[in-house]
Amino acid sequence: MKIGFIGLGNMGAPMAANLADGGHEVTGFDLADVSVEGCVRASSAAQAAEGQDTVITMLPNGAALLAVYEEIIPHATPGAVVIDCSTVDVTSARSAALTAEAAGLLPVDAPVSGGVGGATAGTLTFMAGGASEAFAKAEPLFGIMGQKAVHCGASGAGQSAKICNNMILGISMIGVCEAFVLADRLGLDPQKMFDVVSASSGACWSVNSYCPAPGVGPASPADNDYKPGFAAELMLKDLLLSQQAADEVGAATPMGRKAAALYLEFVQSEGKGRDFSAMLPHLATLARDAG
Ligand code: NAD
Repeated sequence: MKIGFIGLGNMGAPMAANLADGGHEVTGFDLADVSVEGCVRASSAAQAAEGQDTVITMLPNGAALLAVYEEIIPHATPGAVVIDCSTVDVTSARSAALTAEAAGLLPVDAPVSGGVGGATAGTLTFMAGGASEAFAKAEPLFGIMGQKAVHCGASGAGQSAKICNNMILGISMIGVCEAFVLADRLGLDPQKMFDVVSASSGACWSVNSYCPAPGVGPASPADNDYKPGFAAELMLKDLLLSQQAADEVGAATPMGRKAAALYLEFVQSEGKGRDFSAMLPHLATLARDAG
């Protein structure tokens, strides 16, 4: 398949490399001067999109997505599949899809879970929105870049699933961090705390697979001085997107709102560039009546 890949950052570059490795002809473009092994470099987004069966975007936000779509849509081949893997607001995702559809393209919003590690290993999870025909055409590519793809519904459904999942993650990570801070103050050994919680009703991904307490549970960023991993500012981005969506549809998300406020305070104080699980040492420094 001939694939255009726009946005070759931390996530996009390894994803494009895996597609090239998988035998596809990949033409890549990024505003920054990057080249990816196995991929041809285009000189513009429009050139990367021209004559391709599929165009994939992996961009920072909704504004970048809309700007790139405005540029590429007139150059894309009618009938081509356009897959946006970025995490963006639901409204921008739906608007990008409508513009693409109007030009005879097959749009899929397909944000991912799994981070840079998953992008490199080809083990991402894709949550996709779009018509069944578009999803069916995109699915073999999801199979190369990842290990699971769920068709969530119409355009925007992938982004909706992503921000709901990450709202759970942000809330659960804060809950786990709070509990480990309290346990420590109560004199509990973090290993004993892990042994109990990971096999009890408090078990969750934030404890069992990504424990924020160093030296406890499977290897995680906590064991590497909280180097990301999944950076706190990316968690903040996703929590803010969840709150934007909740505002738009009038959904009550009191814990999501609180989690967004806590990550905002964390990123603005000391959290930028640290893993999102570094909320644990941050909370440990706060006074009882903080937050
Ligand atoms: P990144 O900043 O490393 O990469 C984004 C790339 O897009 C950059 O290289 C930038 O130069 C390029 N870009 C921006 N505007 C452009 C334009 N108009 N034309 C061409 N290129 C342009 O970010 P990333 O970590 O690769 O994340 C990409 C997306 O994936 C984001 O939406 C992010 O929220 C999401 N995501 C990231 C992770 C993660 O762990 N990094 C995990 C899941 C989802």
